[in-house]
Amino acid sequence: MKILVVEDNLVSRTLLQKTLDNRGHEIVTAEDGQQALEILSRGGVKLVIADWMLPGLDGLDLCRKIRQNSDDGYVYFIMLTGKDQKNEIIEGLEVGADDYVTKPFDIEELKVRIRAGERILNLEKELTEKNQRLLQFNNRLEALASIDPLMEIGNRRSFYTTIAKVHDRACRYSQPYGLAICDIDCFKAYNDTYGHMAGDRVLKSAAQAIKETIRTSDEVFRFGGEELVIIMPNQDLEAMKIAAERIKNALSDLEIEHRGSPSGKLSASFGTAVFNDSSAANRWEDILDQADKALYRAKAAGRNRVECFSPAEKTGDTLPVGEKP
Ligand code: GH3
Ligand code: MG
Ligand code: MG
Ligand code: MG
Repeated sequence: MKILVVEDNLVSRTLLQKTLDNRGHEIVTAEDGQQALEILSRGGVKLVIADWMLPGLDGLDLCRKIRQNSDDGYVYFIMLTGKDQKNEIIEGLEVGADDYVTKPFDIEELKVRIRAGERILNLEKELTEKNQRLLQFNNRLEALASIDPLMEIGNRRSFYTTIAKVHDRACRYSQPYGLAICDIDCFKAYNDTYGHMAGDRVLKSAAQAIKETIRTSDEVFRFGGEELVIIMPNQDLEAMKIAAERIKNALSDLEIEHRGSPSGKLSASFGTAVFNDSSAANRWEDILDQADKALYRAKAAGRNRVECFSPAEKTGDTLPVGEKP
């Protein structure tokens, strides 16, 4: 352990250095508080034994400064003092000294106190390491909690977080954004025909195909079941239609056989809606609702198509998101 001895008295300093050196510690010395601070700023010192009375910056000030600046982990501070008046010792402990030894000191006593300091420092190191591991674990958990394990895209929870941010930004900077809801056609029939496991594989392929088709600024989430929602910042109605058509084509290009679907292969229906600052709706929930209405129309019109919610449409009665004709 690297120990800094701060003592202006040469005899005392040399005695401390020799005795502690013999115990396998790395000892550095300073003659006053200022010099001690310079040594400390280079890092690595874990324990300081400092005389209270020092020229210039005294032991008390030194301790105060160390406590103000704890970049390099905890520094254990033992004050050497001739002041054995109780209230002065309290003053030393109050500025952050961990322990004190009164002079003339007994070297055996000092060694015992250093060992106690070592134990505290080891515990502190262990605690810091555990905290770091906990932090990493929490970050991983946080990431896992927002990913859908089957589709390997964001889940509904992360959709809610992301859309709230996108919507706020769009409001603040008067930028449009679009939402597209994608619902796989006749997927119940797919499971019934090919089995649930095959259905799972198809859902994964579909999600990956969508992920590869959208722009890097767009984001796709599993809204639930066989429904996905795509956020596309800075898109108007026309651009949304083109983008959704492109995704629809990417899914049919997978050429996945689906006998129970109108086209004989896997397809999906899309409903899109756009937020812009002049739109009547001012909540993202309204935009999602509009996209769902458009999806309802796409399903009713025969599936495997894109329908866009036009601003001219009235915001009348709506089906809750997720329900289809
Ligand atoms: P529509 O064209 O009207 O959307 O018909 P649909 O059959 O796709 O719609 P419906 O809501 O009746 O059925 C959705 C199906 O999606 C039923 C459900 O079992 C299936 N599904 C939802 N989540 C999963 C999943 O994680 N894995 C598998 N294999 N199937 C799923
Ligand atoms: Mg002194
Ligand atoms: Mg469906
Ligand atoms: Mg559905």
